[in-house]
Amino acid sequence: MTTTQLFILGRSADAGSERGVDCPGELPAASDPDLVERARKAKAALGERVFVLGHHYQRDEVIQFADVTGDSFKLAQQAAARPEAEFIVFCGVHFMAESADILTGPGQRVVLPDLAAGCSMADMATFDQVEECWEALEEAGLADDVVPVTYMNSSADIKAFCGRHGGVVCTSSNAKRALEWAFEQGKQVLFLPDQHLGRNTAVLEMGMSLEDCVLWNPHRPNDMGKVAGAKMILWKGHCSVHGRFTAESVDDVRARIPGVNVLVHPECRHDVVLKADYVGSTEYIIKTLQAAPAGSSWAIGTELNLVKRLAQMFPDKSVSFLDKTVCYCSTMNRIDLPHLVWALESLALGETVNQITVEADTAHWAKVALDRMLALP
Ligand code: SF4
Repeated sequence: MTTTQLFILGRSADAGSERGVDCPGELPAASDPDLVERARKAKAALGERVFVLGHHYQRDEVIQFADVTGDSFKLAQQAAARPEAEFIVFCGVHFMAESADILTGPGQRVVLPDLAAGCSMADMATFDQVEECWEALEEAGLADDVVPVTYMNSSADIKAFCGRHGGVVCTSSNAKRALEWAFEQGKQVLFLPDQHLGRNTAVLEMGMSLEDCVLWNPHRPNDMGKVAGAKMILWKGHCSVHGRFTAESVDDVRARIPGVNVLVHPECRHDVVLKADYVGSTEYIIKTLQAAPAGSSWAIGTELNLVKRLAQMFPDKSVSFLDKTVCYCSTMNRIDLPHLVWALESLALGETVNQITVEADTAHWAKVALDRMLALP
């Protein structure tokens, strides 16, 4: 069995994982006082040839240069809608840049400013592990009736696996619709790689029970009797950022801030989501705060860069972070101003660095699964 782990400091390469590799060339010093000006100049020199995407969880120093901000799917769609842009600089993590490469045209190059910007959740489901799981389902005579559904937050390999096996990709906004479609195609769903999004959607939105869900552990033998009796086979993966929030954090914030509204992302654990007032994707979180009345209080359970930005955007509302401790996405934070400057200046000098390319067969099948999602009613 092959296991991969996120290699945060970015030494060595492994094409089969989301690991980072060294950043080739000269990276500007983080203390360089001219970084903002250098990024501005390099971006201006590239003009329409470059389109910079910024995920909601990015640092402000990077977001200020984004032509558009959004969640991973919105950003990939935005990249596809800019065929005139020769370079898509993706300030996000590796799987997002892969999706952008799959959805953009052959003449467009997708650049990830730091290849060490992976995703610990995506790394929790490797292709070999998922293949092993599928073989076990085949041996147990179950695979014909199992439909694989993968969250957008997965590698292109896993999306392609779903494409090949009649499955679909979903986002945190359309997980319910994707699951409804999947249950029209088969009797069971293998949900990858986020157990929490799968469980929260199945139980809270589709009326299933916790007993209808079984966890698939890629590191241990699994009880095939239990697997056969479940509707949802949940991959044992999670987001290391949203997994930090606890039910106690919700109790604590309610005690500290009377009348507070608790709004969390569905990647949070089931007991946290059960205690929250509102649950939804990052785009839902932003829209909910936009629509909230002035003077209302909110405790938000998602990545801290976004929560801090929301607090600045809506000064007429009280916006707090759900947890008492700091909770950034450490890999997303790998994309900093020195890496962005390095990527933009290299492109302006005619050198494409850190290009993310998905191999043709993988891209084809991943797009099949993505297109099935786009065709969902
Ligand atoms: S916030 Fe979680 S799911 Fe998103 S990139 Fe970071 S580790 Fe991955």
